[in-house]
Amino acid sequence: MLPLFIFILGLCIGSFLNVAIFRVHDGISVAKGRSRCQTCEEPITARDLIPVLSFFILRGRCRKCKNVISWQYPLVEFSTGLLFLLFYLKFEQGGIDLLTLVRDWIFLGFLIVIFVYDFRHLFILDRFTVPAMIVAIILNLWISPVPALSLISGAIILGSFFYLQFVISNGTWVGGGDVRMGALIGLMLGLSQGLVALFIAYLLGAIIGVILLLSKRAGRKTPIAFGTFLAVGTIVILFFGDVPLQLYLSLFV
Ligand SMILES: [Zn+2]
Repeated sequence: MLPLFIFILGLCIGSFLNVAIFRVHDGISVAKGRSRCQTCEEPITARDLIPVLSFFILRGRCRKCKNVISWQYPLVEFSTGLLFLLFYLKFEQGGIDLLTLVRDWIFLGFLIVIFVYDFRHLFILDRFTVPAMIVAIILNLWISPVPALSLISGAIILGSFFYLQFVISNGTWVGGGDVRMGALIGLMLGLSQGLVALFIAYLLGAIIGVILLLSKRAGRKTPIAFGTFLAVGTIVILFFGDVPLQLYLSLFV
């Protein structure tokens, strides 16, 4: 029963994250007012606000104007529900304690928002990374799953990694958002796990980049939303911890 409840909780959080992403982009207050249809501005009633289900009951169209509703809604809701559940199951298996589970859920919320926003708009917003950095410092120092020194060195080294690219390329390879994102990864995971997350992000970026090039869905000049890969790499390491690094090292021993 509890896992189902956690999944539904995740769906609802995903629903809230969607609203936050759309409203931040449109410059509307996240806290105030009812949600409206993106096209006809009709306020959305409670029965059409059920995560995932409403989208399918409405067949992906607004009840009033019949315009298409973004797939982002059900996809983000479902993914958030699934990730919340996965981290809960890890807790249930004794992999982490309750405080770390709550920390991971909060980190997930930020990382999902950063992922979706960068995917849609090719921007890693300071409005997401800066609060996430503050929350990461407070939670990690309070719960201390990562030594403070590892957090600080992780933030400095990962941030500098992108800052150097930013300076060398005059801002053409990476943007300022990537620098903050690098520091954020260090503050969430610490130095060693942060570096593995970075490695996974580049690996994923290379694989998907090649697939897009080969399928001619992207050219060499197509901008890539690298923040999405960084967010995925961070979520993977948040979940698996030291396991990927140990697996990798065991290949050579
Ligand atoms: Zn409408």
